[in-house]
Amino acid sequence: MASRVLTRPPALRSPAFRSIGRSVLLTLPMALWALLMFTPSFRQPGRNLHIGALLVILFMTALFFLMMRTGKTYRWRRYFFVALGLLFPVGFIASLVAVRGTMSIPIERMVSGDTPFCYMVIPMLILPAAVTRTIIFPGSILPTASNPHSIAIMIGLWLALTLVVGKAWCSYVCFFGGIEEGFAALPKRMKIRKLDPRLRLVPWAILLFVVVLSAALFEPVYCMWLCPFKTVTEYPAVHSVTTAIQMGIFITLFAGLVVVLPYLTKKRTQCAFFCPFGAFQSLFNKINLFEIRFDREKCVDCTLCQTSCPTMALSAESIREGKTLLNCMKCGACVDSCKKSAAVWHLKGTKVALKPERARLLFLYGAWAMATMFGGSILANSISTIIGFLPLR
Ligand code: SF4
Ligand code: SF4
Repeated sequence: MASRVLTRPPALRSPAFRSIGRSVLLTLPMALWALLMFTPSFRQPGRNLHIGALLVILFMTALFFLMMRTGKTYRWRRYFFVALGLLFPVGFIASLVAVRGTMSIPIERMVSGDTPFCYMVIPMLILPAAVTRTIIFPGSILPTASNPHSIAIMIGLWLALTLVVGKAWCSYVCFFGGIEEGFAALPKRMKIRKLDPRLRLVPWAILLFVVVLSAALFEPVYCMWLCPFKTVTEYPAVHSVTTAIQMGIFITLFAGLVVVLPYLTKKRTQCAFFCPFGAFQSLFNKINLFEIRFDREKCVDCTLCQTSCPTMALSAESIREGKTLLNCMKCGACVDSCKKSAAVWHLKGTKVALKPERARLLFLYGAWAMATMFGGSILANSISTIIGFLPLR
């Protein structure tokens, strides 16, 4: 009787459910990584910074432990990702207001180097840089006396991490995606269920359009005209009809693709149907080691995984073929939702479904290290900024 009370029925457990001791052991490397990442913050003066760093170390370590203990990925990753999406704009806007007194910036200053580096611009840099050796959107990535290698470091880091985890960048680092995921998580059920699968092609068309046009015009067309996230970061000062139109486009895209449609569809609609950077990242899925596969011997074609996928990276045909589509961002929702354990993490070059937990663990070490390094430091800074605004003594 006692064991019936104390032990969860095996059927409710994920096949990857682990003991506390083993989960702690597997979490240890990530806890040490988080400590290493935030040691410099503790060396700097500032109580708020220390609190932010400490909270993030605990948060990231606890979530990783839960991923190990339960065998679920998406469920725990989501807490981090939504926190990142919600807190990043708060911290960013607060520091803009503290430094400049406003979120707006003249568009000329934006293009000529007075904004922080944004990875969204990377696909637009490539052609002009290759042909003319000119960086068309310098921002603060221009080498400076204090940081002479900033371009190389930022782009080098992005490339190294992308090669390891592919499009997982979009589900473990991109704070913009976290905002959408937050709105998609709000309703219990989808209010719109049917979405045209051809919408998946739109990000590719936008990618082609902005890359070619940016090279032709020598300016970052997406940043100037199409980025929904200008609305929650810094926007061009409105002083003419042109800037008013730009601002109108940013706000409309943000409201539609980041707030309303995610709420109605429970999908990340900006990522799935619009973002050219996401399409660009998909290309790296071809050459990195980790992927999701489907064990056809266990799969009963129930399509639960397809419904749970936030970016429509699954189709009935792809599941039948045992694969995801190219735009999979390795969030793990499909694996978490499959009741037959047919959706599995896979290390390329090994037999499918042979050791899926080992593949998941290896992938998560890379992805969580990346999330802690980029997202964790953004979270810590945002938390310390927010604490600074609280009426605490
Ligand atoms: S949820 Fe699992 S069983 Fe259902 S279709 Fe997807 S992989 Fe197959
Ligand atoms: S296929 Fe699975 S892992 Fe890939 S984006 Fe969809 S739910 Fe996430």
